Amino acid sequence: MIYLDSAATTATRREVLEAMWPYLTGEFGNPSSHHELGESAAAALKAARATVAAWLGCRESEVIFTSGGTESDNLAIKGIALATPRGRHLVTSAIEHEAVLESCRYLERHHGFELTIVGVDGEGMLDLEQYEAALRPDTTLVTVMLANNEIGAVQPVARIAELAHAHGIPVHTDAVQAAGWLDLDVSRLGVDALSFSGHKLGATKGIGALYVRGRVPLEAVLHGGGQERGRRSGTENVAGAVGLAAAIGLAGASGREVAARRDAFIAEVLSLVPAAVLTGPTHDRLPGNASFCFPGTSGESILLELGAHGIVCSAGSACAVGSDEPSHVLLALGIAPEVAQTAVRFSLDASVTAAQLHEVALEIAGAYERVRGLGR
Ligand code: PLP
Repeated sequence: MIYLDSAATTATRREVLEAMWPYLTGEFGNPSSHHELGESAAAALKAARATVAAWLGCRESEVIFTSGGTESDNLAIKGIALATPRGRHLVTSAIEHEAVLESCRYLERHHGFELTIVGVDGEGMLDLEQYEAALRPDTTLVTVMLANNEIGAVQPVARIAELAHAHGIPVHTDAVQAAGWLDLDVSRLGVDALSFSGHKLGATKGIGALYVRGRVPLEAVLHGGGQERGRRSGTENVAGAVGLAAAIGLAGASGREVAARRDAFIAEVLSLVPAAVLTGPTHDRLPGNASFCFPGTSGESILLELGAHGIVCSAGSACAVGSDEPSHVLLALGIAPEVAQTAVRFSLDASVTAAQLHEVALEIAGAYERVRGLGR
């Protein structure tokens, strides 16, 4: 099998499992318990938090462990919006993950917020003029993703934050796809909140974290025993957090080398299938992302053909359950719905070799011919 769906999820790394194992077995205590087992779990959680904080360049008290990207996005957006009295207006982009868009829409439906969705250009880069014009005295929060899950577009988040801060508006970024590829130092990014998820970088599913700058008010979404300084109740996923810290220790794959292999792969696909269209930016792109449309086919049939040859990739994004609708991301780029239906995303990690990518490019050309021949 050649796995080219790392943007959907990654395998848990052996070192991560080994780090987690003690906290699932002998050291299985609840960090809130006042006995030796509990104290050992609390110490492990503290050490994991220190690793995350060092990685993000923030204080340990600014890290909240969550169940993953979706929860981090929900907590950041609902939590900051509901705790901030300055107004009821949210600004986001047209290519956000559903976890962000649906959190904003929830606030619109149930809490009287107004939502401005800023458009992107044909490569998926935020329209900065439109964005600046969207900022208002009553804007409560800006939320713009660092890197897109479908097309890999990397947004100028530092600039986006600077413009918002000029109006005193806090900024959240969804860094779920960027984690492990880009520098997530929150001071350099200039953000007030940042979400990421463990299973995209070799940790297990069900663990993630949210950074929230110390002075930013946050209303809890999950209420209960007051864990995570009252910001996220529920017994902590100690083993998951320990695994997340281990994955962070292993992160930092050479993005440049992966990008070079990816670029050669893109060039080969475009030369073997001249009708193929690369979607997303040519420059500000995540190293592991190559996404195309194959007009005149359907993404699903290309996917099936490739699957039959042991190549695993994704039609658009794997993040929405059972959705046959053309991707809102591709539509936002101005791609026609019938072309957006032909999207296929290949997402590489550092283990994918140039020889494998060459094989995949040849298989894509074959799959394209077969699907076209069958009129699908
Ligand atoms: N945000 C982005 C950009 C994503 O790509 C994903 C998942 O693919 C999520 C949020 C949700 O993360 P999780 O699967 O950890 O809930």
